[in-house]
Amino acid sequence: MIFSILSPTPSLVARVSHPLLKEKQVSMDVLRLDLIHPLVSGNKWFKLHGYAEKAIPHKSSKLITFGGAWSNHIHATAAYCQQAGLKAIGLIRGEKPARLSDTLQDAIEMGMELHFLSREDYRAKNIPVELRALLESGEAVLVPEGGYGPTGKEGAAGIPGLIPEDPYDEIYCAAGTGTTMAGIIQAAGRYSRITGISVLKGHTGLENDILNLLPGMETLHPHLVSQDDHLGGYAKWDQGLIDFMNAWYEETSIPTDIVYTGKLFKAVMRRVAENHFDPGRKILVVHSGGLQGNRSLKKGTLIF
Ligand SMILES: *Cc1c(COP(=O)(O)O)cnc(C)c1O
Repeated sequence: MIFSILSPTPSLVARVSHPLLKEKQVSMDVLRLDLIHPLVSGNKWFKLHGYAEKAIPHKSSKLITFGGAWSNHIHATAAYCQQAGLKAIGLIRGEKPARLSDTLQDAIEMGMELHFLSREDYRAKNIPVELRALLESGEAVLVPEGGYGPTGKEGAAGIPGLIPEDPYDEIYCAAGTGTTMAGIIQAAGRYSRITGISVLKGHTGLENDILNLLPGMETLHPHLVSQDDHLGGYAKWDQGLIDFMNAWYEETSIPTDIVYTGKLFKAVMRRVAENHFDPGRKILVVHSGGLQGNRSLKKGTLIF
């Protein structure tokens, strides 16, 4: 039901042409999850689908979740629920500001009900009493922060279904909670090595968080998590990243976002430049969307 509203794109996999890829004889395809829907950010669609599938048969009509002012997850949850006929409730980090971010304004326009939590309450995930009652009666389903959990992973395991049979030597994705990477490993890990580029600084628990979603797997090997490409930490950026994102767009027409996919493509192209891939290797990069968050930047910073 939900997937019928995806845009009718014949294939979301696009071959990238770039002088450095040509020189190093590396072939790169991109899975353009940023194109599946104008509002629902790529990978979030899949994770939320897992939770909605859990809610609907039990007649739960509401999804409750957490996020910050520029959160792709909040934005995507609002859009998903609007389309699926569910009520979205967002618990937002921090006191209500005088001026809402574009993300939160969109969320309200799409029908999401917002509750602002103090930073302490947010950290402790203290759910307001009236909402706790909805969860206890089964009227609402709680979606953990970032969609992390087995249910989100089952949804994300649908992502490799969009890749043509053709196997890839390596698949790269951005990792926040690692739920998306876990889903991709579950569905495609036998065919390819999956590498997740962590966008958080010192997120040493990430490997374990991923393994916890993959019962039966004792180590991530041959899959990898990179802790070296976060560029300072979550949502941190520098001029080097902006320059890369602008140049990447000029050369490939692929827009990226400041928090996840800009860092992802920069990390992959650094590996290409450093001869990390043998000539003839076929790699796939999962573009997980998130472009709406670029609105937190000053106008004109990005050329797209
Ligand atoms: C949320 C998000 C991610 C991270 O997904 P996880 O499943 O939490 O690892 C990656 N890319 C984009 C664009 C996102 O919005």
